[in-house]
Amino acid sequence: MGTPILGAPIAHALDLEVLEIVKDLASRGVMPRLVALTAGNDAASEVYLGRQAKSASRLGMAYEVRRASAPTEAAFLAEIDSLNADPLVSGVIIQMPLPQGVKAETLQSRLSPDKDVEGVHPTNLGRLLEVSPVVAPCTAAAVIECLLAADVELRGSEIVVVGRSRIVGRPAALLLVERDATVTLAHSRSRDLAAITRRADVVVMAVGRAGLLTPAMIRPNAVVIDVGINEVMKDGKRSLLGDAAPEIADVASAFTPVPGGVGPVTVALLWRNAARLARKAYDSNR
Ligand code: NAP
Repeated sequence: MGTPILGAPIAHALDLEVLEIVKDLASRGVMPRLVALTAGNDAASEVYLGRQAKSASRLGMAYEVRRASAPTEAAFLAEIDSLNADPLVSGVIIQMPLPQGVKAETLQSRLSPDKDVEGVHPTNLGRLLEVSPVVAPCTAAAVIECLLAADVELRGSEIVVVGRSRIVGRPAALLLVERDATVTLAHSRSRDLAAITRRADVVVMAVGRAGLLTPAMIRPNAVVIDVGINEVMKDGKRSLLGDAAPEIADVASAFTPVPGGVGPVTVALLWRNAARLARKAYDSNR
């Protein structure tokens, strides 16, 4: 049985890193200030907003929820323009889901890259081509943090990332290349996925198809990082499954469970991005 790579202790270590940055900024009289922008009519969003408020207070950051005046793109863009212009706001979270007709990418591109705590502004995605970017998309960065925490050798390793989305698979592949891995980026048009994944020392699944990766598709003792979150009905109950079949644990040397693996690390990285952007803003205004 492979070792589960649990997200909670990794998230805890990241929190300590954030607290260090916040403490350092506090000693200079600065407190990071985050704003979550929402339409304000979605029950699930309200739960997330409540959790974000608690995390912000635990990490010593100011936090505020801003509601767009109408569920339209124009109203969101006006709010973003005002947040961009506000020197007291160091970071903005654009809360999903957005109302129908409001495109996430349009809003994300309008936000200043210096306040983009999710790391998804085109400028910040472009900066992933540079060494040591300040922020990266949280889920992609979480893949790296899980591998580092599990002491997985990245230099020279064969890593297959399955899924090439703009904010998960592609940036994860770039971050892995930066760590000297030999990376293959597979997707829905890849021929013979099993032959590709079987070559890998590490398989990163970022697809959104429950159980796509089966034990026969990995080599013995490979490491599996499972980004996928798939809600499935089992025996009349809702449950969450990853993109890797649970039986992967019998063949892998280590794997991230779903839930409890990549997810908590992704959340922690939002706060690290927020802290890093606040520090960068302070440094560039000195
Ligand atoms: P996405 O935008 O839908 O992209 C999915 C990718 O998977 C695409 O590149 C697609 O290929 C590829 N794909 C689809 N079917 C495939 C198949 N049969 N074989 C190989 N590749 C296939 O999804 P995403 O936003 O990247 O999210 C991926 C998963 O991660 C989802 O389950 C999502 O819920 C989860 N997620 C988790 C977290 C977390 O914190 N853990 C955060 C964000 C997302 P094409 O490009 O060819 O279409």
